[in-house]
Amino acid sequence: MAKNALIIGAGLAGTCLAHRLLSSGIEVQILDQGSNHSSAIAAGMVNPMVFRRMNKSWRLDEFLPEAQAFYRDIEQQLQTKFYHPIVIRRFFSSAEERDSWQQKASQEAYQNYLEKLSPADLENQAAINLFGSGRVRNAFWIDAANWVKEHLAYFAAQGNLLQKPFEAKAWDPAARKYDGITYDYVIFCMGYQQKEEPTFAYLPLQQTKGQTLLIESALLSDAESLNRKCFVLPYGKGRFRVGATYEWNNATLHHTPEAREILLQNLSALGSYEPVVMEQAAGVRPTVLDRRPLMGKHPDFDGVFVFNGLGTKGYMMAPTLARELAAFITMNTPLHPETNISRFTESKV
Ligand SMILES: Cc1cc2nc3c(=O)[nH]c(=O)nc-3n(C[C@H](O)[C@H](O)[C@H](O)COP(=O)(O)OP(=O)(O)OC[C@H]3O[C@@H](n4cnc5c(N)ncnc54)[C@H](O)[C@@H]3O)c2cc1C
Repeated sequence: MAKNALIIGAGLAGTCLAHRLLSSGIEVQILDQGSNHSSAIAAGMVNPMVFRRMNKSWRLDEFLPEAQAFYRDIEQQLQTKFYHPIVIRRFFSSAEERDSWQQKASQEAYQNYLEKLSPADLENQAAINLFGSGRVRNAFWIDAANWVKEHLAYFAAQGNLLQKPFEAKAWDPAARKYDGITYDYVIFCMGYQQKEEPTFAYLPLQQTKGQTLLIESALLSDAESLNRKCFVLPYGKGRFRVGATYEWNNATLHHTPEAREILLQNLSALGSYEPVVMEQAAGVRPTVLDRRPLMGKHPDFDGVFVFNGLGTKGYMMAPTLARELAAFITMNTPLHPETNISRFTESKV
């Protein structure tokens, strides 16, 4: 008989894991209360680089190709479009940054990600150009709001989704029993709201609020995503997402005039684009101080797992991490040591 799993949370973590478990022949039930304020709010950008240090993102060479293939497969499966390739143009903040780019772009390790600087890049006038600009290769964005919406519809149509809140009184972790049903595996994928549920509340999950603006501007080009101090992501038809703020230890969901001001100021450091703000969005990222995800088995309860802490690069990491967690759950294949919650584990009973 096929084994069964209960996934709590249908955000990016829960949906990616559901795909991976279903492909391993596990029967999956997903529970979601419809309070998604991260995966659906995200800009969904996948930027191979960490500009602050001008380094490749962690495990980039593994994550990026797998994410590109995964999102295209899921597009086929759900018969919709999420995946949009984009060129990111970084306007350098200093001569050091430009020199660092120049030097890295000639290294083999960066060939897939950094274009060598051409005279046209150095002179590009799409933004106020202080020290030149460079183009990132192999970047893309996922239509995050559509990802969540289409997955809720898809899993509901397949009979995999219960649209309800998780009830602590219906949960017996020692028996892996929820609402009268015993599951082989129960996986908590509750994003920043994990802190409110006792099972994995001991983990050092942080709640990092982020806000973005949706603007219209006739003076910005749709061709590239501009970046310095903020990102400007073209959505087509003269609309752009500008983001994002980082508001530490803040799990409130209202948008603020202060964040709007910061985002508009950051945008004006790129150029005078006469933006018209159409909408402001706020969400909360599930982050961890060591910038690594939270994955693994509960220290005291067999068959009880967590998938969280996807942070600011969730859309790049989730496809690979979900596959690794599914292999850990079903075949006990070891997790990457930097992702395993055993780094924080103490027995709770
Ligand atoms: C403003 C902003 C911009 C971002 N931009 C990017 C970006 O450009 N690129 C990128 O990669 N990442 C970005 N992120 C981060 C990204 O959104 C997260 O890493 C990722 O979406 C987290 O996914 P998750 O599934 O862990 O959490 P969530 O998306 O929060 O999903 C958790 C789910 O659990 C459900 N749930 C919670 N509690 C309960 C309960 N008690 N009962 C039932 N269901 C429950 C919720 O309804 C929700 O659907 C951004 C985030 C924000 C806020």
